[in-house]
Amino acid sequence: MKELIVITGASSGIGAAMAKAFSAKGHPLLLLARRVEPMQALALENTLCISVDVIDGEAIKDAIATAVEQFGPVGGLINNAGVMLLGQADTQDPAEWTRMLNINVMGVLNGIHAVLADMKARKTGTIINVSSIAGRKTFPNHAAYCATKFAVHALTENIREEVAMDDVRLVTIAPGAVETELLSHTTSDEIKAGYADWKEEMGGVIAPETIAEAALFAFEQPQSVCVREIVLAATRQQ
Ligand code: NDP
Repeated sequence: MKELIVITGASSGIGAAMAKAFSAKGHPLLLLARRVEPMQALALENTLCISVDVIDGEAIKDAIATAVEQFGPVGGLINNAGVMLLGQADTQDPAEWTRMLNINVMGVLNGIHAVLADMKARKTGTIINVSSIAGRKTFPNHAAYCATKFAVHALTENIREEVAMDDVRLVTIAPGAVETELLSHTTSDEIKAGYADWKEEMGGVIAPETIAEAALFAFEQPQSVCVREIVLAATRQQ
């Protein structure tokens, strides 16, 4: 059997597409998100689905320990879980900033903390962090979301340097707009409508499966090759 892959945020969108793509290549999977039913509904072989909030680092560790017992060590961790709560800095509820910082940044660090020591000890392993084009450039109404994704870029690159000599790889995947549930959690109808118009104006966005293929491409390189960053978006996206 191939190496165990852990994917956070696998109950919809990009994470679900990644689960299908890695499963099709024969990997056993540990899928983590708060909603367990949509992960089970993927009906993938050799797959454990556990309800975990990525804010809870201990819960991630416990879930991974259960999967390791069944499938062996973690070959890859994909920190994909994230939320995008758009808003204007003067009116947005700061509780939304806290939620985004916790899930998008602490969630990624919690995932890394759960696997990195073992990967270093075994001198192999790959961590793929899903950031965003909003982790490199800013967009209207995205201040706190951009802050979280700039942080994902920074921490990924920093930790990549830390563990390079241990042959552990860290990869940033930075998608442009993708058709998923992501926008649905923004509370301002006006901002949501504007975002939807923007997507329509560019003639559509990319599919979650395209991001999953990018993750597979990075993962399937020989361990001596680290694809540090993949940025991909609809051709017409600015
Ligand atoms: P979705 O909303 O479809 O998926 C988000 C996933 O994250 C869900 O599975 C959700 O599961 C999970 N999640 C959210 N909060 C938590 C939490 N506290 N604990 C565990 N899991 C959680 O959006 P996408 O597929 O688009 O998003 C995936 C990643 O891609 C995110 O990091 C996002 O920022 C990034 N991205 C998306 C882009 C897009 O345009 N769609 C563009 C660039 C980056 P559940 O609710 O069951 O917990």
